[in-house]
This record gives sequence, C-alpha cells and structure tokens, in this order.
Amino acid sequence: MTAWDGDKLITALVDHGINCEDINYVISTHGHSDHIGCNYLFPKATHIVGFCISQKDRYFHHDFKSGKEYRINDKITIIPTPGHTLQDVTVIINSGKGTIAITGDLFEREDDLSNCNIWKSAGSDSEELQVMNRLKILQLADYIIPGHGAMFKTDKYK
Ligand SMILES: [Zn+2]
Repeated sequence: MTAWDGDKLITALVDHGINCEDINYVISTHGHSDHIGCNYLFPKATHIVGFCISQKDRYFHHDFKSGKEYRINDKITIIPTPGHTLQDVTVIINSGKGTIAITGDLFEREDDLSNCNIWKSAGSDSEELQVMNRLKILQLADYIIPGHGAMFKTDKYK
C-alpha cells in the first residue's frame, strides 16, 4: 500500500486479531512505492521486496535471478515472476481449497486478461517476460490476487 494507507492497514490487521509486531514476514511483490509505503510498520519482520531480502540492515542473498524459489514454510513459497519489473515475485499459497497466487502487478486486475492494454499501460520492464510469467501463473494457480483488483478464479482462462 502507499505511505498514506497505514491506518487502513493497521485496522485491517486488528480486525483479524493481529498486531504489526506479530508479523514475521513482509513480502512486497516489487519495489514500486504504491506497494511498499507501509513496510516501516513491521520492524520485527524479515522484509522481501522483489528479489531483495533484508532484516534491519542485514541483507540475505537468494538466487531468485536463476529461478530459485524461496520457501517460507510448507504452504507458502515465493517464486520469481519478472516482467512488470525485472525483480517481481509472486507469493504461492497452497491452501486447503486450492493454490492461490498473490501476483502484485504481474496482473493488474482480472480485466487485463481480456484487454492487455491494462497491464501494459501500468508499465512493463519486459513485456515478453511478463507474458511468459502470466501464463505460468494462470496454469499454476486456482485463484489469483492481482495488484489492483479483487481475487479471481483462473479456471475459465485455462
Ligand atoms: Zn508496480
């Protein structure tokens, strides 16, 4: 979210009985300011912003560049999906009800599947890579949570 959305984010977490200090991982799919503006609210977390992993001033190398996944636990994995930026990642969640992909701006919203101008005009550092990774996620996921829209089912696009 943006730097002006802190109150909204805190309220949403409190509604789920969660405080900012309880958060272990903050995963930002890419480094654009509308996605990282509230990261400062989580001082105890490990922060993953695109391909960059850090905690306070310590940085940890992970080879996303070669396609290597980063496993948080049995249910949550982070995979590289460059395109929108060259360091975009997607969070893959294996829930009991199917596979959910939190993609950031790899997909802007469901409409961009029928109108490619939507995701292209949001900016793409590599349209070729973005097309490739969009197809990969469509095959892999049952549900997609895009960067700027509601969650949608992928079955009708396979
Ligand atoms: Zn973006």
